[in-house]
Amino acid sequence: METVVAASHGVCPVCGKDATLKCGNCKREFYCDKCHQSRDWPRHRPVCCAWEIRHDPQLGRHLLATRDLVPGDVILSEAPLVWGPSIHAQNQRLCVGCGGQCAEIDVRCGKCCWPVCRPDCLTDKKRHEPECTLLARARIIPRCDVLLVIRMLILWRTKSKRWTSLTNLQSHEDSRGPGTEAHDEVMNISQHLGPIVAMAPDCMSVLPKICGLIDVNALETMPPEGSFAIYENASLLEHSCVANTRHCFRLDDKGRPRITVNAITSIKKGEHLSTMYTHALWSTRARREHLLATKYFTCRCERCADPTELGTHLGSLRCPCRNGFMLANDPLNPDTDWSCNACPGTVTSAEVAQLTDRLEEEVTEVMRKATPHTLSDLLSRLTVLLHPGHQHCVSVSHSLIQLIPLSDPRKLDLCKRIMDTVTRLDPHGARLALYTAVTLRELATCPGEDRLAHLLRAAYFLQSEPPNSPGDKLLRLIKLELSY
Ligand SMILES: [Zn+2]
Ligand SMILES: [Zn+2]
Ligand SMILES: [Zn+2]
Ligand SMILES: [Zn+2]
Ligand SMILES: [Zn+2]
Ligand SMILES: [Zn+2]
Repeated sequence: METVVAASHGVCPVCGKDATLKCGNCKREFYCDKCHQSRDWPRHRPVCCAWEIRHDPQLGRHLLATRDLVPGDVILSEAPLVWGPSIHAQNQRLCVGCGGQCAEIDVRCGKCCWPVCRPDCLTDKKRHEPECTLLARARIIPRCDVLLVIRMLILWRTKSKRWTSLTNLQSHEDSRGPGTEAHDEVMNISQHLGPIVAMAPDCMSVLPKICGLIDVNALETMPPEGSFAIYENASLLEHSCVANTRHCFRLDDKGRPRITVNAITSIKKGEHLSTMYTHALWSTRARREHLLATKYFTCRCERCADPTELGTHLGSLRCPCRNGFMLANDPLNPDTDWSCNACPGTVTSAEVAQLTDRLEEEVTEVMRKATPHTLSDLLSRLTVLLHPGHQHCVSVSHSLIQLIPLSDPRKLDLCKRIMDTVTRLDPHGARLALYTAVTLRELATCPGEDRLAHLLRAAYFLQSEPPNSPGDKLLRLIKLELSY
């Protein structure tokens, strides 16, 4: 962690003279006068701090832009306070050294017997040693899903500075008491930590807080795949379904997933900085339920407030009158009635939920062993009941375009409809880069389409995908296709 010593003067980077005028944004650079400050701005701008922490009773601590930003600007970049395998990674074998997937079954740390990917993965002693001693002493049976909790218990126990930073983040313990799923999960984890709890019973008092901190703040990393990390500042990014930042991860020299947050739109000084904590292709009801259940937060962004979800109709149903579609009267109210935009017909939110959930089960079932035939059959049944832009229709279409031959006349229409939806929801490819690129690559094969333009656009969307991720692999394939 970088420590900033508050100084009252420094050296002007332009003339080298003693300087007392401080950069108002980052308070880290000093100038002899205004003139040298503006001359240095082009050099200083990319490294100058672009955000500040604000507090309000509803949002809690959140980030604001302290200067105008243009798409691509780096907003912040930091190493995690703590990271480790997802607490839902029960059946995965992740390395206690690097966090990577363990292909070899029998490579283990000699002391604690937890899985490692390669025998030499533990050469950096500092990374695994503190937990190794504890794991070996308590003889904890290797289970990836408790490792992150153990790492946080150690930070708490050793009164680490990183623990102090962690406790500045939200943990929503008041909403996670007995009777909630979150509480059951804490109990479940405490059972697996049995020997540790037996050695140090006071662990139980901090376990609910640790699980809350993980659920509310941890971001899924890639690389390493299957891990979650908590960041001192990036974890303060608030949610919006029309987020203005994207983030990516890179392993730093210590093997930790360093996060970098970039602007994806033009952001004005004073605007809130946001990211998206739900799937971009879920309809408003699914997103808001997920946010409420996991982040204890109800989103009121412009996409949530728009019954058409920015014109995509991701949640709209077809009205039995056949002339119009059913839309939520007040999308910000979960109990709202839905009305047809062409006739006086209405349905209740419970009826909408029942239909949508039943169809979702059907989609999941068919997707499990999808063939071109079962998918087209399902899609025709769905479009009788749903808007063709509905979340379910889009996801079935996306699988279908990858299975039907070039000669199929439906392919072009399906690709164009998916492109219309993703372009409205994620014009910059911040969340749906791979999804969009797959569609563009299929579109490139359709007769009469500009193959080169679509492939180049697909490659553009994939340019910031992490090395060896599925997106990166597709990018390499597309580059090969572009070369002949
Ligand atoms: Zn100067
Ligand atoms: Zn500055
Ligand atoms: Zn490893
Ligand atoms: Zn070990
Ligand atoms: Zn929203
Ligand atoms: Zn109607």
